[in-house]
Amino acid sequence: MPDSQPTLLVATNNRDKVLEISDMLKNYNVRIKSLRDYPEFPPIQETGQTLEENAILKARWTFEKTGLTSLADDTGIEVTALHGAPGPFSARYSGPGATYESNVRKLLQELEDVNEAERTARFRCVMALVWKDGIDIVEGHVDGIILKKPRGTGGFGYDPIFFHPPTGHTFAEMPMSLKNQFSHRSIALRKMVHIIANKHKFTIL
Ligand code: IMP
Repeated sequence: MPDSQPTLLVATNNRDKVLEISDMLKNYNVRIKSLRDYPEFPPIQETGQTLEENAILKARWTFEKTGLTSLADDTGIEVTALHGAPGPFSARYSGPGATYESNVRKLLQELEDVNEAERTARFRCVMALVWKDGIDIVEGHVDGIILKKPRGTGGFGYDPIFFHPPTGHTFAEMPMSLKNQFSHRSIALRKMVHIIANKHKFTIL
């Protein structure tokens, strides 16, 4: 019998992102793959200067390699007091060998003397979908405040210091299902799901 379930390749190795995106698409008739299914591929060089450029180059690269409809996101945290930094450089903020923890430490150090009113920040996510007939781009963002100390053990990356005023919690204090109602990535993905469902005939189960 032919396999009629469409496949979406998420152009990332980041297990946390794949889990979030899989959770958001769990009611759709789509098989999710990621770069974790292609260990032979070399790392994609994120050479763009903007989130848009990086999202497009990642999705285009995996589409060209596999021919599968490819979804890539590039996300950054933009801190007002730092004039939008670290932005597209969020993953490498604390330098070579950066980890989630070292990046959080560096951001807290940079903001040591900044008072609460000026600790506003935005997670911004740009998603690109590359498929045989073209490319679609959407964006999602969420505003919050960078705390002075981490709170919570869930989520990943900058989540423990990103306070979300409407819920009164950091993203690391929320179950994934709640983060996925408000997050930059979920907003972008909801927009993209409309496009995917219409163009690619991914039906709701
Ligand atoms: P990427 O380049 O899109 O993988 O993301 C850059 C960096 O932003 C990651 O290494 C994380 O530190 C951070 N990041 C991305 N998404 C999130 C999120 O949902 N919560 C917290 N940090 C995130």
